[in-house]
Formats: sequence, C-alpha cells, structure tokens
Amino acid sequence: MTHSTIQLVRSPKQIDADKRSARITRAEVLALFELPFNDLLFRAAQVHRANFDPNAIQRSTLLSIKTGGCEEDCGYCPQSAHHDAGVEATKMMDKDAVVAAAQAAKAAGASRFCMGAAWRGPNARDLEKLVPIIEAVHGLGLETCGTFGLLDEGQAETLRAAGLDYYNHNIDTAPEHYADIIHTRNFDDRIDTLDKARGAGLKLCCGGIVGMGESREQRAGLIAELASMAEPPESVPINHLVAVEGTPLAGVDKLDPFEFVRTIAAARITMPTSFVRLSAGRTQMSDEIQALCFFAGANSIFYGDKLLTTGNPESERDEALFSRLGLRTM
Ligand code: SF4
Repeated sequence: MTHSTIQLVRSPKQIDADKRSARITRAEVLALFELPFNDLLFRAAQVHRANFDPNAIQRSTLLSIKTGGCEEDCGYCPQSAHHDAGVEATKMMDKDAVVAAAQAAKAAGASRFCMGAAWRGPNARDLEKLVPIIEAVHGLGLETCGTFGLLDEGQAETLRAAGLDYYNHNIDTAPEHYADIIHTRNFDDRIDTLDKARGAGLKLCCGGIVGMGESREQRAGLIAELASMAEPPESVPINHLVAVEGTPLAGVDKLDPFEFVRTIAAARITMPTSFVRLSAGRTQMSDEIQALCFFAGANSIFYGDKLLTTGNPESERDEALFSRLGLRTM
C-alpha cells in the first residue's frame, strides 16, 4: 500500500463535508481493508476517539418474540422453514412475557431492548399484537428496536407511533452476493423497507454478516453500501456467521478473525458517528479478538440474553472482559 493510495480514502471530516452526497466507493473501502493491520486499527481508533468515548460500550438485549418457521430462505439462518436446523417454530410471545423480559434486561443494564420475529414481514394481525407490546416496552423507559422483516406501506408509521425507536433490517451482504445467500427476496426489497422505516422517522439499525464465503472485495462492498446511504444507519451491527448445522452455510470456509476486525475498523472509519455493534458470532470469538474489535471502534454489543437462536456469551463473561479492559457501559 503506497501513501498515495491511502490518501484516496476520504477523511471523516471530508465525508461530513460532502454531506454524504457522494458515494463512498467500494474501492475506497477496499483500500482501507488493504492497509497494514496496525495502520488500519490506529486510524479506526483515532476516528472512534474523535466521535465517542472509546471506553464506553452500549449494551442492547435482543429477545426473539416469535421464533422459527420463517418462510424466507436466508442461507445463514436456522429459523428458516426451508432448512432443517432443529429450531421449533413458536407463536408470538404474549405481552406480559415480553414486558417481563424487558424489565429483566433493564435491571441487567441494557439501555435498548430489541425484539425480533421470524417473519417475511408482519401481517395486519401481527401488527395489532405488536403495537401494545412496543407501547409497554417503550413505557419502561427503554429504547425500543424491532426486527420484523419487510414492511408494507403504512406499517413503519404504525410502529413509530407505538413508540418504536429503531428498525433493524440488515442488508446482509454485498448486492452481487445476495442471490448466493437468499432466494426469497432481493437486495432492493431490503432497501425499500429501509426507506420506509426512515421515511416514518425510525432510526435504522442496519448492517450485515461476514464469513458467508464472500470475498474481501464483497466485504468492502457491504460496508460501502451502508456508508453511502443518504443517512447512514445510526446503529451498524456487524455479524460473524454462526455456521449452524442444517443450514446451507454450515460448511463454509472459516473467516480469518483478523479479517473480521478489519471489517469493524472499516465500518468505524466510514461511519464515524454510528454505533458499530459486535453482534452474532461473539460466542466463538476469543476475548482477545473482541478486545481488538473494541479497539477498532466497535462500541455496542448484544448482552445478556440469547441472540435470536444462537448463543451469546454469558453476562458474566462480558462483565469479566469489561473489567479486564477497563470498559464501562454507556
Ligand atoms: S434471517 Fe430473518 S427473514 Fe431470514 S430466515 Fe431468518 S428469521 Fe427469516
């Protein structure tokens, strides 16, 4: 990597000055990925410090309020009805059970409560049940986030009016890799729902998954898509594939853990004011790799409950790691 190549990547200030009118190109993000590891992490840490307290981590709890039996065929997901991953389909949890889980999450230090449902999208009856649940969780003083799939006209407005703060909807992977992973919807369907959520005044939680057999260039493509949104997502979950037996991606080649850290760093540099969330896959990560992710700018984690159907490190392990690293909860 030559000095002149490094200069091709715009500084966060330049990105702000551009008011995001220009796309952050894949080539620019790829140039970041190709920096020597130490240079990349140093730069990401500088951006992190300029925009956040580098020792404070936001914690969210995610509850699956309706698990399994999903009609979509996402190749990474054990909840798809198309795969045989041993996840039993459940009905939507009732309001009291969700509120009890939200209260417990709040008591354990979560500031945001994320609710996920394994649907292609909510129908009118689902939405009717969701509204009082969101109102109740919002009433506890927690930030609320929902991940309910594709939205029809007007649904985002209904969710917002109920007190939903964030809508989670990941773009999953680079556009040209999308059809290798999911066949029941396309990349543009995702963008359409993100636009609806944004249009209704919801904040966006939107990221992707790495380690799904994509190339480095495609990882750069994923980050470039996120960073080039007219308003980048406030929260950017970077997931590491959890290769679950019975899903099409069960046998995929493992990603070099340093490449995961590079992805976090590229997200931090290109989306300086977004929360970059270390999401699925933390269970398989060593404490040391997690520490590198925090240094590279990750400043949000899922905490204390199950991350949909895959494991999440126990709260105690997180507490011990935070203590060893001198991190505190935001
Ligand atoms: S990721 Fe979501 S939409 Fe895809 S199969 Fe799983 S639950 Fe369904």
